[in-house]
Amino acid sequence: MGDHAPPGCRLTAPAETFPARATDPDLVEEGRRLFAREARFIAGAAETAALPAERLPEIAFAGRSNVGKSSLVNALTGRRMLARTSNTPGRTRQINFFDLGGRLMLVDLPGYGYAEASKADVKRWTGLVRRYLRTRAALRRVCLLVDARHGIKEADGPLMRMLDEAGVSYQIVLTKIDKVNAGELARNAERIVTELATHTAAYPEIHLTSAVDRFGIASLRATLGSFALVVPAVSTVAAPS
Ligand code: GDP
Repeated sequence: MGDHAPPGCRLTAPAETFPARATDPDLVEEGRRLFAREARFIAGAAETAALPAERLPEIAFAGRSNVGKSSLVNALTGRRMLARTSNTPGRTRQINFFDLGGRLMLVDLPGYGYAEASKADVKRWTGLVRRYLRTRAALRRVCLLVDARHGIKEADGPLMRMLDEAGVSYQIVLTKIDKVNAGELARNAERIVTELATHTAAYPEIHLTSAVDRFGIASLRATLGSFALVVPAVSTVAAPS
C-alpha cells in the first residue's frame, strides 16, 4: 500500500492543505532502515526525577487516549512490543522511552482526555508533561496525533498551549484516515490548518496516516529519520603508519 492514496480516497483539498511530504526515495530508504533497527524499552518515568539521561535526539508522540498512538508507533517500528509496553498497567500514566537502534529516542507521552480521569490525575499528567517539554533539550519534535474523523478537540488544547509556551516544534499527524472519505478529510484538514495558524510552535504540515493500510507510514519514517543521530561512516582507509 505505502503512501499512495487509498482506493476511493482522492484528496480533493487545495494543494496547500497537504504540503509536500518527504517523498525523496533516498530519505524514504533511510527512514526504512532506521525504523528497521531494534526498538528497546529504556525507561518509564512517572515523575520528572525518573526521566532518563538525554543521550539521543527525541521524538515524542502525544494524543488523546484511543487516538491510535500505539498502533501508529507499532506501524512505524513494525513491532507490537511498544503497544504492549506502554499499555501495561502502571505504564499508561508514564512517559515511556524507546531507544531506536541507538539513533533516535521514541518517547510515548501518556494519553489524555479520559472522561473518568480525576483532577489529581490531570494535575499529575500536566505537571509531568510540562516539565518534560520545558526542560528536554534533546526533544526535536512532537507528533500530535489527531483522529481524522474528529479533528482537534478541546482536550488537545492544554497540550497545544504547553507546546507553544515551551517553544517545542510540533506537527499534527492525522490517524485512522482509512475511516474517512475524501470530503470529510478535506473539511477536517482545512479546519485544522486554520487552527494551526493560531499556534506559534505548530509546524504547518499535516501528516496523514493509517495504521491499518499503512498509508503515510513510509513518509513519516523519512520525516522523523531526518532528526536521528548521524553516525559518521567508519573510514576503511588505513591510517598511515
Ligand atoms: P491509543 O490509546 O492512542 O494507543 O490507541 P490504539 O493504538 O490502542 O488504538 C485505539 C483503537 O483504534 C484500536 O481499536 C485500534 O485498532 C484502532 N485504530 C488505531 N489505528 C487505526 C487506524 O489507522 N485505522 C483504523 N481503522 N483503526 C485504528
